[in-house]
Amino acid sequence: MPEKSIIQIMCPKLTCRRVLAVPNNARGKLVRCRGCGTTIRVPAEKQNCSANHSEEASGEGQGANAA
Ligand SMILES: [Zn+2]
Repeated sequence: MPEKSIIQIMCPKLTCRRVLAVPNNARGKLVRCRGCGTTIRVPAEKQNCSANHSEEASGEGQGANAA
């Protein structure tokens, strides 16, 4: 392994815009901006055009809720 994989993400806060370097194993996790303290979610994959469009259903599906 030549080097550790580092991901660089930018703080979404317009007043901060701090570039954070997080390790590759932090993908899908939450990191905290050291500049403003905003919690940022590290993208699970590289920002590429992934053909795999996965739709993850969060929570229970809202539909026929029969009591
Ligand atoms: Zn920030």
